[in-house]
Amino acid sequence: MSSRRGSSARGSQVRGRAVGIDLGTTNSCVAVYQRGRAVVIPDEEGRRTTPSALARSPQGAWLVGWKARLAREEGSTCSVISVKRLMGRRLAEVASDAGRVGCPVSERPDLNISIHLGSASFTPQEVSARILLRMKEIAEKGLGGTVTAAVITVPAYFDHQQRRATQDAGRIAGLEVLRIINEPTASAIAYGMDRTGDRKVAVFDLGGGTFDVSILDIRNGVFEVLATGGDTHLGGDDLDWILASHLAKACVAETGIDPLAEAELLPRVIRAAEGAKIELSTAEAATVRLLLGRGSAFETVVTRRELEGLIRATLARTVAICHQVLADARLTGRDLDDLVLVGGATRIPLVRRLAAEVFGREPRGGVDPDEAVAIGAAIHAGMLSGEADGALLLDVLPLSLGVETVGGVFRSIIPRNNKIPVIRGEVFSTAQDNQAAVNVHVLQGERDMAQDNRSLCQFQLTGIEPAPRTVPKIEVTFDVDADGILHVAAENLHTGDAVHVDVNESLALDPEEVERMVETARENWEEDKRRRDHAIAVTDLACLAARARSRLALHRDALPASKRLAIAEALERAEALCSSGDTERILASTDQLYTLCAPLRGAERCEGMVGEPGLVDTREGAAP
Ligand code: AMP
Repeated sequence: MSSRRGSSARGSQVRGRAVGIDLGTTNSCVAVYQRGRAVVIPDEEGRRTTPSALARSPQGAWLVGWKARLAREEGSTCSVISVKRLMGRRLAEVASDAGRVGCPVSERPDLNISIHLGSASFTPQEVSARILLRMKEIAEKGLGGTVTAAVITVPAYFDHQQRRATQDAGRIAGLEVLRIINEPTASAIAYGMDRTGDRKVAVFDLGGGTFDVSILDIRNGVFEVLATGGDTHLGGDDLDWILASHLAKACVAETGIDPLAEAELLPRVIRAAEGAKIELSTAEAATVRLLLGRGSAFETVVTRRELEGLIRATLARTVAICHQVLADARLTGRDLDDLVLVGGATRIPLVRRLAAEVFGREPRGGVDPDEAVAIGAAIHAGMLSGEADGALLLDVLPLSLGVETVGGVFRSIIPRNNKIPVIRGEVFSTAQDNQAAVNVHVLQGERDMAQDNRSLCQFQLTGIEPAPRTVPKIEVTFDVDADGILHVAAENLHTGDAVHVDVNESLALDPEEVERMVETARENWEEDKRRRDHAIAVTDLACLAARARSRLALHRDALPASKRLAIAEALERAEALCSSGDTERILASTDQLYTLCAPLRGAERCEGMVGEPGLVDTREGAAP
């Protein structure tokens, strides 16, 4: 938390070209919006995707992309792949993934992961930054100009830390990260679904190493993820292993050599399996030829039917996940308007058939499944830089955001379902005379009392100059950026002192959790209102009584003894009543005390203040 003066004005003026980058687990892709449409930018060799890999050559040069992948296939032990699995994670959280990146990893004192490539070590953000730099270089060569900004995509299930790590990687690569958007959202944008009216869309994404499926609800250009699911250890690479094992068995039977058991042959058989798998997406049969060394070779033919028999059980896992996600969204295939397939492995005919079966409709065609995410990101970058028309609103706040005010009452600042990005501020004040600090407690939820909502963070604004209660003006501003990250500022409008806090908790809750919280608020509406009215009444009476007592001590000689006694008795009754649960009597006592204290200047009603540092809501009608 830092204390500084500043405004929360934001906004990005894109200076150079802005691109869209799909920073994938296995492969990455960069696209740009130009002359009215988004196009993928190929590399110097015309390849449209780039492996998300980093390696060090034996001569000590750093290799990224295809060169790194080749070095790895040739047995380099100084290489890393699938770094996306480690982004924004602690080592303990990714124990099973740490073994998949192909090099040693450890935990740093700051709890970030350290990836060891020979004598050098990098954080996952730094490795991703090198991949992003390569994508930037491809884009700059392809476009013949400088690229300064990017929209980068992440899986819908990425939490706040993973999104932030991705944002950091972009910054390290020298890119202005215009937005981090969800991969399924980008895919739907690629199909123009932000302009085709309200619809529900299933996005089925099977890449090299991961499977994700999301159900989106698109309304007025706002994308809401209704449900998401997947398997971070299921993808085209698993299918390669299955086919490679099948080939190895046949090879052992014919030649006695097991290519999976020999370090030199292993990458060859995996590459051959991947080649056959890809060929079988369009051909009915593929010939596999495996060089075994010393002039010998193994050759066999694999049919599509055979491949399907081998991979069907593994692909059944995608079907089960799709059923679960539909159930989570409380929808059936019939409720959907579209099915979109994303990821290289969705080119496999069996994958397409299974997805079509589970969602009860044929997938949309027209966009390359390898490129849809980058295309959508590029269209979005085009919108942000003013080149493409379209709605920029991508998401909504699942729950209201607000602060705790005196008496434990929750005051919403941005209501739920508000589109993001959004900036909203409210002016509050102090609860006591000469109160030197206010406590800003930020919460998320729909309940009237702060304690029933989800606490996001608490901080203090100190150094408030001595002043009567309600005189200091403290503006609390909530800024939810396009990545769903909440930045809170509390500013003393008299002095300009401010505290700015970035909230680390993710605002994106599980849709079920959101529904549960909204339902609970609905069920408890009457009881919550009663508690809120009671809390405000107690606050009001307690404050009036405290001020009346101090005024009475000051002005006691100016009052006749009978009046003093009446006030003293009323004060005692009032103070005792504060701990009662009788709101009606508390309100009546406040009125009575107020009338009795009229001769005591300064003992006016306190409009909802208590004797502890807190925020006072000074809006019209905020307190009785
Ligand atoms: P992605 O992570 O989306 O780049 O997908 C990479 C995966 O897609 C790898 O496992 C590739 O082997 C696989 N893939 C790419 N093209 C095809 C194809 N035509 N048929 C089958 N699998 C493919």
